[in-house]
Amino acid sequence: MHWAEVIAENIADNCDNPVIATGISPTGIIHVGSLREPITGEAVRSAVESKGKKARLIYLIDSFDPLRECYPFLPEEYEKYVGMPISRIPCPCGKHRNYAHHFVQPFLDAVKSLEINCEVIWTHELYSEGKFTKCIDDAMTKRDDVIRILHEVTGKEENRNYAPFKPVCEKCGRFADPVLDSYEFPTVEYYCKCGFHGFCDIRTGEGKLTWRLEWPAKWTIFGTSAEPFGKDHAAAGGSYDSGKRIVSEIYGGNAPIPIPYEFVQLKNGGGVVQMHKSKGCPVTGLDAIQMTPPEVLNYMFLRVLPSRTIDYDYGMGILDMADEYDRMEAKYFSGVFKESEENSVKAYEIAQHNHVPASMPVQVPYRHLVSIVQMTSNFKEALDVLSRNTSFQGATDDDIKRIWRRCDCVKYWLNGFAPDAVKFTVLQTVPNSGEITMNEKVFFQALIERMNDCSWTAEEINDIISEKSKATPLGSKGAYAALYRIFIGKDRGPRLGFFLSSLDKKFVINRLVQASV
Ligand SMILES: [Zn+2]
Ligand SMILES: [Zn+2]
Repeated sequence: MHWAEVIAENIADNCDNPVIATGISPTGIIHVGSLREPITGEAVRSAVESKGKKARLIYLIDSFDPLRECYPFLPEEYEKYVGMPISRIPCPCGKHRNYAHHFVQPFLDAVKSLEINCEVIWTHELYSEGKFTKCIDDAMTKRDDVIRILHEVTGKEENRNYAPFKPVCEKCGRFADPVLDSYEFPTVEYYCKCGFHGFCDIRTGEGKLTWRLEWPAKWTIFGTSAEPFGKDHAAAGGSYDSGKRIVSEIYGGNAPIPIPYEFVQLKNGGGVVQMHKSKGCPVTGLDAIQMTPPEVLNYMFLRVLPSRTIDYDYGMGILDMADEYDRMEAKYFSGVFKESEENSVKAYEIAQHNHVPASMPVQVPYRHLVSIVQMTSNFKEALDVLSRNTSFQGATDDDIKRIWRRCDCVKYWLNGFAPDAVKFTVLQTVPNSGEITMNEKVFFQALIERMNDCSWTAEEINDIISEKSKATPLGSKGAYAALYRIFIGKDRGPRLGFFLSSLDKKFVINRLVQASV
Protein backbone atom coordinates (compact mmCIF):
# COMPACT_ATOMS: atom_id res chain seq x y z
CA MET A 1 0.00 0.00 0.00
CA HIS A 2 1.20 3.54 -0.76
CA TRP A 3 2.09 5.58 2.35
CA ALA A 4 -0.72 8.08 1.73
CA GLU A 5 -3.22 5.22 1.84
CA VAL A 6 -1.75 3.84 5.08
CA ILE A 7 -2.12 7.24 6.76
CA ALA A 8 -5.58 7.72 5.24
CA GLU A 9 -6.74 4.39 6.61
CA ASN A 10 -5.64 5.41 10.09
CA ILE A 11 -7.49 8.74 9.77
CA ALA A 12 -10.66 7.21 8.31
CA ASP A 13 -10.77 4.61 11.10
CA ASN A 14 -10.21 7.07 13.94
CA CYS A 15 -11.78 10.40 12.96
CA ASP A 16 -15.43 11.23 12.37
CA ASN A 17 -14.84 14.51 10.56
CA PRO A 18 -11.32 14.34 9.18
CA VAL A 19 -9.44 17.64 8.99
CA ILE A 20 -5.94 17.68 7.57
CA ALA A 21 -3.96 20.81 8.36
CA THR A 22 -1.01 22.23 6.46
CA GLY A 23 0.59 25.63 6.69
CA ILE A 24 3.34 28.05 5.89
CA SER A 25 5.08 31.03 7.41
CA PRO A 26 5.49 33.56 4.61
CA THR A 27 8.16 35.73 6.18
CA GLY A 28 10.33 35.59 3.06
CA ILE A 29 10.81 34.03 -0.38
CA ILE A 30 9.24 30.59 -0.37
CA HIS A 31 11.31 27.78 -1.85
CA VAL A 32 10.25 24.71 -3.81
CA GLY A 33 10.65 22.45 -0.76
CA SER A 34 7.69 24.13 0.89
CA LEU A 35 5.48 22.42 -1.69
CA ARG A 36 6.07 19.10 0.06
CA GLU A 37 3.62 19.95 2.81
CA PRO A 38 0.53 20.84 0.73
CA ILE A 39 1.25 18.02 -1.75
CA THR A 40 1.49 15.53 1.13
CA GLY A 41 -1.68 16.93 2.70
CA GLU A 42 -3.63 16.71 -0.56
CA ALA A 43 -2.48 13.14 -1.20
CA VAL A 44 -3.74 12.11 2.23
CA ARG A 45 -6.97 14.08 1.82
CA SER A 46 -7.82 12.47 -1.50
CA ALA A 47 -6.88 9.03 -0.12
CA VAL A 48 -9.28 9.55 2.81
CA GLU A 49 -12.01 10.56 0.37
CA SER A 50 -11.42 7.50 -1.75
CA LYS A 51 -12.26 5.53 1.39
CA GLY A 52 -15.69 7.15 1.32
CA LYS A 53 -15.17 9.80 3.99
CA LYS A 54 -15.36 13.53 3.34
CA ALA A 55 -12.14 15.22 4.41
CA ARG A 56 -11.22 18.87 4.79
CA LEU A 57 -7.74 20.18 3.93
CA ILE A 58 -6.81 23.55 5.41
CA TYR A 59 -3.80 25.65 4.52
CA LEU A 60 -2.94 28.00 7.36
CA ILE A 61 -0.86 31.03 6.55
CA ASP A 62 1.06 32.34 9.54
CA SER A 63 0.39 35.92 8.58
CA PHE A 64 0.58 37.20 12.15
CA ASP A 65 4.19 36.13 12.70
CA PRO A 66 6.64 38.96 13.34
CA LEU A 67 9.26 40.04 10.82
CA ARG A 68 12.41 38.75 12.52
CA GLU A 69 15.04 40.74 10.70
CA CYS A 70 15.53 42.99 7.69
CA TYR A 71 16.50 40.21 5.28
CA PRO A 72 19.02 40.95 2.52
CA PHE A 73 16.27 40.76 -0.13
CA LEU A 74 14.31 43.59 1.54
CA PRO A 75 14.76 47.34 1.05
CA GLU A 76 16.81 48.91 3.83
CA GLU A 77 13.91 50.94 5.15
CA TYR A 78 12.26 47.68 6.22
CA GLU A 79 14.49 47.77 9.27
CA LYS A 80 11.77 49.87 10.88
CA TYR A 81 9.23 47.03 10.54
CA VAL A 82 11.29 44.40 12.38
CA GLY A 83 9.22 43.01 15.26
CA MET A 84 5.84 43.85 13.68
CA PRO A 85 3.31 41.26 12.48
CA ILE A 86 3.81 40.68 8.75
CA SER A 87 0.11 41.23 8.02
CA ARG A 88 0.65 44.87 9.07
CA ILE A 89 3.80 45.55 7.06
CA PRO A 90 3.39 47.04 3.57
CA CYS A 91 4.18 44.87 0.57
CA PRO A 92 7.61 45.65 -0.95
CA CYS A 93 6.30 45.94 -4.55
CA GLY A 94 3.16 47.96 -3.88
CA LYS A 95 0.88 45.48 -5.63
CA HIS A 96 -0.22 43.33 -2.69
CA ARG A 97 -2.35 43.91 0.36
CA ASN A 98 0.58 43.46 2.76
CA TYR A 99 3.95 41.78 3.30
CA ALA A 100 2.44 38.33 3.98
CA HIS A 101 0.37 38.48 0.77
CA HIS A 102 3.37 39.61 -1.25
CA PHE A 103 5.45 36.57 -0.33
CA VAL A 104 2.74 33.94 -0.18
CA GLN A 105 0.74 34.85 -3.31
CA PRO A 106 3.10 33.25 -5.86
CA PHE A 107 3.11 30.19 -3.67
CA LEU A 108 -0.68 30.11 -3.47
CA ASP A 109 -0.71 30.31 -7.27
CA ALA A 110 1.54 27.25 -7.36
CA VAL A 111 -0.69 25.38 -4.91
CA LYS A 112 -3.71 26.26 -7.04
CA SER A 113 -2.17 25.03 -10.25
CA LEU A 114 -1.26 21.78 -8.49
CA GLU A 115 -5.02 21.41 -7.96
CA ILE A 116 -4.60 21.13 -4.22
CA ASN A 117 -8.09 21.19 -2.82
CA CYS A 118 -7.53 23.32 0.29
CA GLU A 119 -9.13 26.17 2.19
CA VAL A 120 -6.70 29.03 2.67
CA ILE A 121 -6.90 30.51 6.18
CA TRP A 122 -5.02 33.59 7.38
CA THR A 123 -3.88 33.45 10.99
CA HIS A 124 -4.17 37.21 11.50
CA GLU A 125 -7.85 36.94 10.62
CA LEU A 126 -8.36 34.13 13.13
CA TYR A 127 -6.90 36.39 15.79
CA SER A 128 -9.04 39.38 14.91
CA GLU A 129 -12.16 37.17 14.75
CA GLY A 130 -11.42 36.12 18.34
CA LYS A 131 -10.95 32.43 17.42
CA PHE A 132 -7.92 32.15 19.72
CA THR A 133 -9.58 33.85 22.72
CA LYS A 134 -10.32 30.71 24.73
CA CYS A 135 -6.85 29.28 24.19
CA ILE A 136 -5.16 32.59 25.05
CA ASP A 137 -7.23 32.74 28.24
CA ASP A 138 -6.34 29.11 29.10
CA ALA A 139 -2.65 29.72 28.44
CA MET A 140 -2.58 32.85 30.58
CA THR A 141 -4.58 31.45 33.50
CA LYS A 142 -2.69 28.13 33.51
CA ARG A 143 0.64 29.77 32.90
CA ASP A 144 2.37 27.83 35.68
CA ASP A 145 1.34 24.55 34.11
CA VAL A 146 2.50 25.77 30.70
CA ILE A 147 5.91 26.60 32.16
CA ARG A 148 6.13 23.20 33.88
CA ILE A 149 5.14 21.31 30.70
CA LEU A 150 7.68 23.19 28.59
CA HIS A 151 10.35 22.44 31.17
CA GLU A 152 9.44 18.74 31.30
CA VAL A 153 9.27 18.34 27.53
CA THR A 154 12.30 20.36 26.48
CA GLY A 155 14.50 19.54 29.49
CA LYS A 156 15.41 23.22 29.65
CA GLU A 157 15.38 25.16 32.89
CA GLU A 158 11.99 26.51 33.99
CA ASN A 159 11.50 30.04 32.77
CA ARG A 160 9.31 31.77 35.34
CA ASN A 161 9.03 34.82 33.08
CA TYR A 162 7.73 32.88 30.11
CA ALA A 163 4.93 34.78 28.39
CA PRO A 164 2.65 32.52 26.31
CA PHE A 165 1.04 35.58 24.77
CA LYS A 166 2.55 38.77 23.36
CA PRO A 167 0.43 41.90 22.90
CA VAL A 168 0.99 44.23 19.96
CA CYS A 169 2.04 47.65 21.20
CA GLU A 170 -0.63 50.22 20.46
CA LYS A 171 1.96 52.90 19.82
CA CYS A 172 4.76 51.32 17.75
CA GLY A 173 3.00 48.21 16.39
CA ARG A 174 5.66 45.76 17.60
CA PHE A 175 5.17 42.74 19.82
CA ALA A 176 5.69 43.72 23.46
CA ASP A 177 6.19 41.94 26.78
CA PRO A 178 3.13 41.56 29.01
CA VAL A 179 3.08 42.18 32.75
CA LEU A 180 2.55 38.55 33.61
CA ASP A 181 0.61 38.61 36.86
CA SER A 182 -1.64 41.44 35.79
CA TYR A 183 -3.82 39.26 33.55
CA GLU A 184 -7.53 39.37 34.16
CA PHE A 185 -9.84 38.30 31.35
CA PRO A 186 -9.84 39.86 28.81
CA THR A 187 -7.05 42.33 29.58
CA VAL A 188 -3.28 42.02 29.52
CA GLU A 189 -1.15 44.94 30.69
CA TYR A 190 2.16 45.52 28.91
CA TYR A 191 5.24 47.67 28.72
CA CYS A 192 6.86 48.10 25.32
CA LYS A 193 10.52 48.70 24.49
CA CYS A 194 9.40 51.95 22.84
CA GLY A 195 8.40 53.21 26.29
CA PHE A 196 4.65 52.79 25.91
CA HIS A 197 2.55 51.34 28.71
CA GLY A 198 -0.76 49.91 27.57
CA PHE A 199 -3.57 47.41 27.93
CA CYS A 200 -4.52 44.75 25.40
CA ASP A 201 -7.86 42.99 24.94
CA ILE A 202 -7.03 39.36 24.00
CA ARG A 203 -10.28 39.05 21.98
CA THR A 204 -9.44 41.67 19.37
CA GLY A 205 -6.41 40.35 17.51
CA GLU A 206 -4.01 42.76 19.21
CA GLY A 207 -1.59 40.04 20.24
CA LYS A 208 -0.53 36.46 19.56
CA LEU A 209 0.40 33.22 21.25
CA THR A 210 4.02 32.06 21.00
CA TRP A 211 4.66 29.27 18.48
CA ARG A 212 4.69 26.46 21.06
CA LEU A 213 1.27 27.57 22.30
CA GLU A 214 -0.19 28.71 19.00
CA TRP A 215 0.25 25.43 17.14
CA PRO A 216 -1.79 23.30 19.60
CA ALA A 217 -4.35 26.15 19.79
CA LYS A 218 -4.91 25.71 16.05
CA TRP A 219 -5.49 21.96 16.57
CA THR A 220 -8.19 22.91 19.08
CA ILE A 221 -9.81 25.51 16.83
CA PHE A 222 -10.02 23.22 13.79
CA GLY A 223 -10.20 19.78 15.42
CA THR A 224 -7.19 18.77 13.34
CA SER A 225 -7.03 15.00 12.67
CA ALA A 226 -3.66 14.81 10.92
CA GLU A 227 -0.92 17.22 9.98
CA PRO A 228 2.25 16.97 7.90
CA PHE A 229 5.12 19.08 9.26
CA GLY A 230 8.89 19.43 8.85
CA LYS A 231 10.98 16.97 10.83
CA ASP A 232 12.51 19.79 12.94
CA HIS A 233 9.19 20.10 14.77
CA ALA A 234 9.08 16.35 15.28
CA ALA A 235 12.40 16.09 17.14
CA ALA A 236 12.29 14.85 20.76
CA GLY A 237 11.43 17.83 22.95
CA GLY A 238 10.32 19.74 19.86
CA SER A 239 7.12 21.66 19.34
CA TYR A 240 5.04 18.59 18.43
CA ASP A 241 5.95 16.94 21.73
CA SER A 242 5.12 20.04 23.77
CA GLY A 243 2.02 20.70 21.65
CA LYS A 244 0.70 17.21 22.40
CA ARG A 245 0.74 17.89 26.14
CA ILE A 246 -0.44 21.49 25.92
CA VAL A 247 -3.42 20.59 23.78
CA SER A 248 -4.63 17.95 26.24
CA GLU A 249 -3.56 19.46 29.59
CA ILE A 250 -4.14 23.17 28.90
CA TYR A 251 -6.72 23.41 26.11
CA GLY A 252 -8.55 20.12 26.57
CA GLY A 253 -8.18 18.94 22.98
CA ASN A 254 -6.40 16.23 20.99
CA ALA A 255 -3.17 16.18 19.02
CA PRO A 256 -3.38 15.25 15.33
CA ILE A 257 -1.81 12.17 13.79
CA PRO A 258 1.68 13.44 12.97
CA ILE A 259 3.08 13.14 9.44
CA PRO A 260 6.66 14.37 9.85
CA TYR A 261 8.54 14.82 6.59
CA GLU A 262 12.16 15.24 5.63
CA PHE A 263 13.40 18.27 3.75
CA VAL A 264 13.88 18.79 0.07
CA GLN A 265 17.48 19.08 -0.98
CA LEU A 266 18.16 21.40 -3.87
CA LYS A 267 20.65 20.11 -6.44
CA ASN A 268 22.02 21.23 -9.76
CA GLY A 269 23.79 18.75 -11.98
CA GLY A 270 24.17 16.42 -9.01
CA GLY A 271 25.78 19.01 -6.69
CA VAL A 272 23.98 20.23 -3.58
CA VAL A 273 22.79 23.85 -3.66
CA GLN A 274 22.23 25.44 -0.28
CA MET A 275 18.92 27.14 0.18
CA HIS A 276 17.91 29.41 2.93
CA LYS A 277 14.50 30.95 3.16
CA SER A 278 15.67 34.18 4.72
CA LYS A 279 18.36 34.80 2.08
CA GLY A 280 16.28 33.96 -0.94
CA CYS A 281 16.32 30.81 -2.94
CA PRO A 282 17.35 29.81 -6.46
CA VAL A 283 14.11 27.87 -7.10
CA THR A 284 10.79 29.08 -5.72
CA GLY A 285 7.58 27.08 -5.59
CA LEU A 286 6.30 29.02 -8.57
CA ASP A 287 9.45 28.29 -10.58
CA ALA A 288 8.97 24.59 -9.89
CA ILE A 289 5.41 24.61 -11.13
CA GLN A 290 6.39 26.56 -14.24
CA MET A 291 9.10 24.16 -15.32
CA THR A 292 7.32 20.90 -14.53
CA PRO A 293 3.68 20.04 -15.21
CA PRO A 294 1.67 19.69 -11.98
CA GLU A 295 1.15 15.94 -12.22
CA VAL A 296 4.89 15.37 -12.69
CA LEU A 297 5.74 17.59 -9.74
CA ASN A 298 3.12 15.82 -7.61
CA TYR A 299 4.62 12.51 -8.63
CA MET A 300 8.11 13.63 -7.65
CA PHE A 301 6.94 14.38 -4.12
CA LEU A 302 4.67 11.34 -3.74
CA ARG A 303 6.94 8.55 -4.93
CA VAL A 304 9.09 8.60 -1.78
CA LEU A 305 8.13 8.17 1.86
CA PRO A 306 7.74 11.45 3.78
CA SER A 307 10.58 10.26 6.02
CA ARG A 308 13.03 10.36 3.11
CA THR A 309 14.86 13.38 1.75
CA ILE A 310 13.88 14.44 -1.75
CA ASP A 311 16.62 15.58 -4.09
CA TYR A 312 15.29 18.28 -6.35
CA ASP A 313 17.74 18.66 -9.22
CA TYR A 314 16.68 21.62 -11.30
CA GLY A 315 19.35 20.96 -13.94
CA MET A 316 19.16 17.77 -16.00
CA GLY A 317 17.28 16.18 -13.09
CA ILE A 318 14.09 17.81 -14.36
CA LEU A 319 14.33 15.70 -17.53
CA ASP A 320 15.10 12.50 -15.61
CA MET A 321 12.09 13.08 -13.43
CA ALA A 322 9.78 13.56 -16.40
CA ASP A 323 11.20 10.40 -18.01
CA GLU A 324 10.54 8.41 -14.85
CA TYR A 325 7.01 9.77 -14.68
CA ASP A 326 6.39 8.71 -18.30
CA ARG A 327 7.73 5.23 -17.59
CA MET A 328 5.40 4.81 -14.62
CA GLU A 329 2.50 6.10 -16.68
CA ALA A 330 3.18 3.44 -19.30
CA LYS A 331 3.38 0.78 -16.59
CA TYR A 332 0.16 1.97 -15.00
CA PHE A 333 -1.70 1.56 -18.30
CA SER A 334 -0.06 -1.71 -19.28
CA GLY A 335 -0.59 -3.14 -15.81
CA VAL A 336 2.81 -4.80 -16.14
CA PHE A 337 5.33 -3.82 -13.47
CA LYS A 338 7.61 -5.34 -10.87
CA GLU A 339 6.71 -5.47 -7.21
CA SER A 340 9.42 -2.89 -6.51
CA GLU A 341 7.67 -0.47 -8.87
CA GLU A 342 4.22 -0.85 -7.36
CA ASN A 343 4.68 2.13 -5.05
CA SER A 344 5.80 4.44 -7.88
CA VAL A 345 2.94 3.34 -10.12
CA LYS A 346 0.52 4.11 -7.28
CA ALA A 347 2.24 7.49 -6.80
CA TYR A 348 1.53 8.17 -10.49
CA GLU A 349 -2.14 7.44 -9.90
CA ILE A 350 -2.40 9.61 -6.77
CA ALA A 351 -0.53 12.42 -8.55
CA GLN A 352 -3.51 12.80 -10.90
CA HIS A 353 -5.84 13.80 -8.03
CA ASN A 354 -8.55 11.41 -9.15
CA HIS A 355 -8.34 12.58 -12.79
CA VAL A 356 -6.39 9.65 -14.22
CA PRO A 357 -6.65 9.80 -18.04
CA ALA A 358 -9.11 7.25 -19.48
CA SER A 359 -6.44 5.71 -21.68
CA MET A 360 -2.69 5.89 -22.16
CA PRO A 361 -1.85 9.47 -23.21
CA VAL A 362 0.39 10.25 -26.18
CA GLN A 363 3.85 10.64 -24.68
CA VAL A 364 6.44 13.02 -26.04
CA PRO A 365 9.66 12.78 -24.04
CA TYR A 366 10.78 15.97 -22.36
CA ARG A 367 14.19 15.59 -23.95
CA HIS A 368 12.68 15.78 -27.43
CA LEU A 369 10.76 18.87 -26.50
CA VAL A 370 13.96 20.53 -25.33
CA SER A 371 15.18 20.36 -28.93
CA ILE A 372 11.84 21.09 -30.54
CA VAL A 373 11.11 24.31 -28.66
CA GLN A 374 14.54 25.64 -29.55
CA MET A 375 14.00 24.93 -33.24
CA THR A 376 10.52 26.34 -33.61
CA SER A 377 8.87 29.64 -32.81
CA ASN A 378 5.39 28.55 -31.73
CA PHE A 379 3.38 25.55 -30.66
CA LYS A 380 1.83 24.92 -34.07
CA GLU A 381 5.27 24.65 -35.65
CA ALA A 382 6.41 22.45 -32.79
CA LEU A 383 3.48 20.12 -33.34
CA ASP A 384 4.19 19.96 -37.10
CA VAL A 385 7.77 19.01 -36.42
CA LEU A 386 6.81 16.51 -33.74
CA SER A 387 4.38 14.77 -36.04
CA ARG A 388 7.30 13.66 -38.23
CA ASN A 389 8.41 11.31 -35.48
CA THR A 390 5.39 10.84 -33.25
CA SER A 391 2.06 9.42 -34.27
CA PHE A 392 -0.77 11.69 -33.25
CA GLN A 393 -3.40 9.35 -34.58
CA GLY A 394 -6.04 9.04 -31.90
CA ALA A 395 -4.59 11.91 -29.87
CA THR A 396 -7.24 13.62 -27.76
CA ASP A 397 -7.59 17.33 -27.02
CA ASP A 398 -6.19 16.58 -23.57
CA ASP A 399 -3.12 14.97 -25.14
CA ILE A 400 -2.44 18.07 -27.19
CA LYS A 401 -2.98 20.30 -24.15
CA ARG A 402 -0.53 18.23 -22.16
CA ILE A 403 2.13 18.55 -24.86
CA TRP A 404 1.47 22.27 -25.06
CA ARG A 405 1.88 22.56 -21.31
CA ARG A 406 5.10 20.57 -21.48
CA CYS A 407 6.46 22.87 -24.20
CA ASP A 408 5.74 25.89 -22.00
CA CYS A 409 7.46 24.23 -19.05
CA VAL A 410 10.50 23.33 -21.12
CA LYS A 411 10.77 26.94 -22.34
CA TYR A 412 10.65 28.21 -18.77
CA TRP A 413 13.33 25.71 -17.77
CA LEU A 414 15.53 26.69 -20.73
CA ASN A 415 15.20 30.38 -19.89
CA GLY A 416 16.32 30.17 -16.31
CA PHE A 417 17.56 26.80 -15.14
CA ALA A 418 18.80 24.51 -17.91
CA PRO A 419 22.55 23.94 -18.23
CA ASP A 420 24.13 25.83 -21.15
CA ALA A 421 25.10 22.53 -22.75
CA VAL A 422 21.49 21.84 -23.77
CA LYS A 423 20.82 25.29 -25.18
CA PHE A 424 21.25 25.97 -28.88
CA THR A 425 19.95 27.98 -31.81
CA VAL A 426 19.76 26.63 -35.33
CA LEU A 427 22.07 28.78 -37.46
CA GLN A 428 20.35 30.66 -40.28
CA THR A 429 23.34 30.28 -42.62
CA VAL A 430 26.32 27.98 -42.84
CA PRO A 431 29.23 29.27 -40.75
CA ASN A 432 32.43 30.51 -42.38
CA SER A 433 33.21 27.79 -44.93
CA GLY A 434 36.95 28.50 -44.68
CA GLU A 435 36.87 26.74 -41.34
CA ILE A 436 35.45 23.55 -42.77
CA THR A 437 38.19 21.04 -43.53
CA MET A 438 38.49 18.87 -46.63
CA ASN A 439 37.77 15.71 -44.62
CA GLU A 440 34.63 17.29 -43.22
CA LYS A 441 33.47 18.27 -46.70
CA VAL A 442 33.95 14.72 -47.94
CA PHE A 443 32.02 13.41 -44.97
CA PHE A 444 29.13 15.79 -45.65
CA GLN A 445 29.02 14.73 -49.31
CA ALA A 446 28.84 11.10 -48.30
CA LEU A 447 25.87 11.90 -46.09
CA ILE A 448 23.99 13.87 -48.75
CA GLU A 449 23.74 10.91 -51.10
CA ARG A 450 22.29 8.59 -48.49
CA MET A 451 20.05 11.14 -46.87
CA ASN A 452 18.40 12.06 -50.16
CA ASP A 453 16.97 8.57 -50.37
CA CYS A 454 16.09 7.97 -46.72
CA SER A 455 12.61 8.14 -45.21
CA TRP A 456 13.66 10.88 -42.77
CA THR A 457 13.10 9.16 -39.47
CA ALA A 458 15.36 9.63 -36.45
CA GLU A 459 16.42 6.02 -36.59
CA GLU A 460 17.37 5.99 -40.25
CA ILE A 461 19.28 9.26 -40.00
CA ASN A 462 21.12 7.90 -37.00
CA ASP A 463 22.11 4.76 -38.87
CA ILE A 464 23.43 6.77 -41.81
CA ILE A 465 25.50 9.11 -39.64
CA SER A 466 26.82 6.24 -37.59
CA GLU A 467 27.83 4.25 -40.68
CA LYS A 468 29.46 7.19 -42.49
CA SER A 469 31.24 8.47 -39.39
CA LYS A 470 33.05 5.13 -39.15
CA ALA A 471 34.35 5.56 -42.68
CA THR A 472 35.91 9.01 -42.24
CA PRO A 473 39.37 9.89 -40.95
CA LEU A 474 37.62 12.47 -38.71
CA GLY A 475 36.71 9.71 -36.31
CA SER A 476 33.28 9.39 -34.86
CA LYS A 477 33.72 12.24 -32.40
CA GLY A 478 35.11 14.62 -35.03
CA ALA A 479 32.35 13.72 -37.46
CA TYR A 480 29.58 14.47 -34.98
CA ALA A 481 31.24 17.72 -33.89
CA ALA A 482 31.51 18.82 -37.55
CA LEU A 483 27.78 18.28 -37.98
CA TYR A 484 26.89 20.17 -34.84
CA ARG A 485 29.08 23.08 -35.94
CA ILE A 486 27.32 23.60 -39.25
CA PHE A 487 23.85 23.43 -37.71
CA ILE A 488 24.17 25.07 -34.30
CA GLY A 489 27.71 26.44 -34.17
CA LYS A 490 28.67 24.26 -31.18
CA ASP A 491 30.68 21.05 -30.81
CA ARG A 492 27.89 19.22 -29.08
CA GLY A 493 24.13 19.32 -29.04
CA PRO A 494 20.90 17.36 -28.95
CA ARG A 495 20.76 13.75 -30.16
CA LEU A 496 21.56 14.07 -33.84
CA GLY A 497 19.14 11.58 -35.38
CA PHE A 498 16.19 13.08 -33.62
CA PHE A 499 17.42 16.62 -34.04
CA LEU A 500 17.98 16.39 -37.81
CA SER A 501 14.79 14.43 -38.43
CA SER A 502 12.95 17.25 -36.66
CA LEU A 503 14.33 19.77 -39.12
CA ASP A 504 13.02 20.02 -42.64
CA LYS A 505 14.72 17.48 -44.91
CA LYS A 506 15.42 20.01 -47.68
CA PHE A 507 16.90 22.43 -45.17
CA VAL A 508 19.27 19.80 -43.81
CA ILE A 509 20.44 18.64 -47.21
CA ASN A 510 20.90 22.22 -48.42
CA ARG A 511 23.00 22.96 -45.39
CA LEU A 512 25.17 19.90 -46.07
CA VAL A 513 25.53 20.95 -49.72
CA GLN A 514 26.56 24.51 -48.76
CA ALA A 515 29.05 23.21 -46.22
CA SER A 516 30.67 20.75 -48.59
CA VAL A 517 31.51 23.14 -51.45
ZN1 LIG B 1 3.99 42.99 -3.42
ZN1 LIG C 1 5.84 50.05 21.39
